[in-house]
Amino acid sequence: MVDAKAVHRRGPCIGVDIGGTSTRVGLFQLLDSADFVLIDKFLTYQSYEQQIQNIITSIQSTGLKEFAGIGVSIAGRIVKDGRSVIVAPNLTEYVGKPFAQDLADQFGCSVRLAHDAVCGLLAEKKFGHMRNFERCAYLTVSTGTGAAIQLSKASTTLTSSIEIGHQILDGNSRVCLCGQVGCLETFTGGKQIELRYGRSPAQITDSAFWEIFCDKLALGLVNLAMLTRIDAVAISGAIALNQPPLLTLLQKKVNAIMRRASLELSFAVLGENAPLVGAALLLEVSEDFILH
Ligand SMILES: [Zn+2]
Repeated sequence: MVDAKAVHRRGPCIGVDIGGTSTRVGLFQLLDSADFVLIDKFLTYQSYEQQIQNIITSIQSTGLKEFAGIGVSIAGRIVKDGRSVIVAPNLTEYVGKPFAQDLADQFGCSVRLAHDAVCGLLAEKKFGHMRNFERCAYLTVSTGTGAAIQLSKASTTLTSSIEIGHQILDGNSRVCLCGQVGCLETFTGGKQIELRYGRSPAQITDSAFWEIFCDKLALGLVNLAMLTRIDAVAISGAIALNQPPLLTLLQKKVNAIMRRASLELSFAVLGENAPLVGAALLLEVSEDFILH
């Protein structure tokens, strides 16, 4: 997947993972392993200016002068050209700001941005179980329900962010935070669950709740498999990672629906580090092969 147009400057790389709650900054000496040194972790600032300044300060704290590049994973949708954020319900002040340019001006190196699910998928594809599949996806079950798919043939690989959480489920009359009626995320999004039940998913132990949760998510995954013909999904995100039994239950429900194809589910091998590792990996994938 390494492309001729990708970055080949010498020096370490920086990966930044900006979640709705916290931000982590990692230093990568090489991109041929998932190993990194965690430079900093801080609560994500809602203010764009404060957030950029904190990222800059973190990177400067390494004392290094030259970087091969900086890759940033963001819990939000990125503009087609990969330079700024276009939709981020939890980071609204970042929308339209010159994110990539501001970091590039500061450090004089290549800067790449992508949706966190795209980054997670790049990491799982290179270092996890997804390396065995030409058509695969990465699903994050967290505050929201996000995903990315990757379709490959020979030397061409397209990775695309998709709106899995906002697919419509028949018969669902719940209003989603996005404004649509019937979205999958009304059942699986951490924020929407908390608003509806007054408790975070981690505090819900009722097995009937998790049965319905998995019923809906299984439908969403089977729809995804039918529309894209993906063969496997790496699952991550706080809700999924905190509920180990969820994987078996979800696989059982997926298997019960599908007839002429199958979908192999597994937890992301890199767990919560996948988006951070994948952020750095953006630097070896041409922008032409990422559909934001
Ligand atoms: Zn929605």
